[in-house]
Amino acid sequence: MGEDGARRPPGTWIRALVLHTTRGIPGGRDLRPQKILPGLGPARRTARATNQWWSSNGTCAGAHLLVDFDGTVACFADLVTEMTYHATSVNAHTIGIEIAQGPNAELWEGQLDAVVHLVDWLTARFDIQRQIPDLYRGSLARLREGGRDVVGVYGHRDQSAMRGEGDPGNEVFRRLGDVGYEPFDFGSGADRMAWRPRQRLLGVADDGVAGPMTCNAIRAFQRNHELPETGLADAATRAILERVDEPV
Ligand SMILES: [Zn+2]
Repeated sequence: MGEDGARRPPGTWIRALVLHTTRGIPGGRDLRPQKILPGLGPARRTARATNQWWSSNGTCAGAHLLVDFDGTVACFADLVTEMTYHATSVNAHTIGIEIAQGPNAELWEGQLDAVVHLVDWLTARFDIQRQIPDLYRGSLARLREGGRDVVGVYGHRDQSAMRGEGDPGNEVFRRLGDVGYEPFDFGSGADRMAWRPRQRLLGVADDGVAGPMTCNAIRAFQRNHELPETGLADAATRAILERVDEPV
């Protein structure tokens, strides 16, 4: 429904990934704690069932990708050219990723590992800086108002007051933090405050929003410092950026 399959506006800069859980538990009236089970979950064809549900029900949401209990990744829409109806205000310029959640609020360790691999691949492919919310602070006005200045990986819960803490829960963000995703208080604009001096050093407009020009400047900076040219401000790149004296 809604924007499912609608074309993105031509030339859209895809600037963020939005993580979800299919049941959003804990949330709403179901406040059972999210359970993280060892290994991989059963191959239950959640992807197929979800696709049938989204295809047959006119009032439910969609997403581009779903990570099933067993770590299988299913893709339902063209990531570049199509929108999906997963997080209202930010749909036009984000990719939606559902994490299949069991009926008793369960997710699996191996499934979450697959989500981290997928997010790593997508951030590299789309030049999306690896930054995440530092904490769950309820839905953020910046995102409700369109999120055009928010780059990175965030949750449905950060965008919408209609979803609870469990969409997608803390565990997936903890794992992304463990592999180097930079935590920011997006609500206070801490991400933009961190990026402005970096952009001045890189010689691009210092609006605090790390877009395509910033990523290209990071690649040139990395080339000059014999770092892998990823375009992403990883820890090694930041360490050098923050040592360089700001030009006068
Ligand atoms: Zn959601």
